[in-house]
Amino acid sequence: MNRPAESPSVPALDLKAQYRAIRDEVEPIVLELMESQQFVLGPNVAGLEAELASYCGARHAVGCASGTDALLLPLMAWGIGPGDEVITTPFTFFATAGVIWRLGAKPVFVDIDPVSYNLDPSRLAEAITPRTRAIIPVHLYGQAADMDPINAVAAEHGLKVLEDAAQAIGAGYKGKRAGVLGHAAAFSFYPSKNLGGFGDGGMITTDDPEFASRLARLRVHGMEPKYYHAEVGLNSRLDAFQAAVLRVKLRHLDSWTAARRAVAESYRDHFEAAGLGALVTLPTELPRRIHVYNQFVIRVDPALRDPIRAMFTEEKVGTEIYYPIPLHLQECFSSLGYQPGDFPVSERAARETIALPMYPELSADAIRRVVDLLAHFYRGRNLLPSRREHAA
Ligand SMILES: *Cc1c(COP(=O)(O)O)cnc(C)c1O
Repeated sequence: MNRPAESPSVPALDLKAQYRAIRDEVEPIVLELMESQQFVLGPNVAGLEAELASYCGARHAVGCASGTDALLLPLMAWGIGPGDEVITTPFTFFATAGVIWRLGAKPVFVDIDPVSYNLDPSRLAEAITPRTRAIIPVHLYGQAADMDPINAVAAEHGLKVLEDAAQAIGAGYKGKRAGVLGHAAAFSFYPSKNLGGFGDGGMITTDDPEFASRLARLRVHGMEPKYYHAEVGLNSRLDAFQAAVLRVKLRHLDSWTAARRAVAESYRDHFEAAGLGALVTLPTELPRRIHVYNQFVIRVDPALRDPIRAMFTEEKVGTEIYYPIPLHLQECFSSLGYQPGDFPVSERAARETIALPMYPELSADAIRRVVDLLAHFYRGRNLLPSRREHAA
């Protein structure tokens, strides 16, 4: 049994590689901004808003301080609060449900589809009550949720649809991009997202001009005109510094997305060549979607997940679990009364999934090494024939 040759470490994410590639473009812009001393809102924020709206095909975009606030502000603008219910998936980053709770509304979870990891539209209808006000589908890992049936249920019951597109900038669904698939969409510029800033940032897209102005007012304490407050908002502005950096990065986004998709293809080729098809479930790109692979998440036998992660850690390969505890089982939501077993598809995904290294600059050698290590692991447990037997 050949052990894969000793190689340099493979991080789960390498932000420095991307920075090296754009340093010459970013540095003068940041220096210029420091000369201007214009740090809050201003022309770079307005510029990024226009460019991002156009990138998504939306009429308007409103920058804010984080992806979390990009989820919170639309719910505030729709007046969602105590007594209201908002439906979402339990298999997502905490913020998706946290914003519902923070407004005094009740998160109502609906299980996911096992293939896409996204909200299962066939289970939506049973979760709707007279108190339901909105649905937040999440485009998890970079693949759009099945929006047509979600929008159909929403239209039938008069509900708002807010896309959680934090992981899915540029993701395609039936010829459109994430950001125009509901009434509004939330994007995050957290550094690990496909379009990541040098700190926190977020943006909301919408086609509704009045809704966009309402959001723009809510992000400055509901102020309009200056020092007049008809309603209470937040201080949630997008930093001009982040906007300046993000404008540079947005110009590269499509080539980075193409590189992520090529990394995913290369993983697939190597997994197939290694004969791992029956042991490891790879991500599925559904028909008429463009997956942008914020994460490349595989499924393994839950009994092997910890040993596999330990092996990768030992070999200096970064992996992560997104997400180990479905939200209905989080302590802070215990008063909602959910129990283990309520959302079996999410609970199973939480036990079986591992995110492998994924970033546009991930090298062919690194991809091969990750797959070779996994094949070596399975051979060591006699779950995969040795290379010679396999070839025979
Ligand atoms: C990152 C993320 C958020 C929150 O974004 P922040 O910018 O970190 O506040 C919300 N939802 C999902 C699915 C995310 O991945």
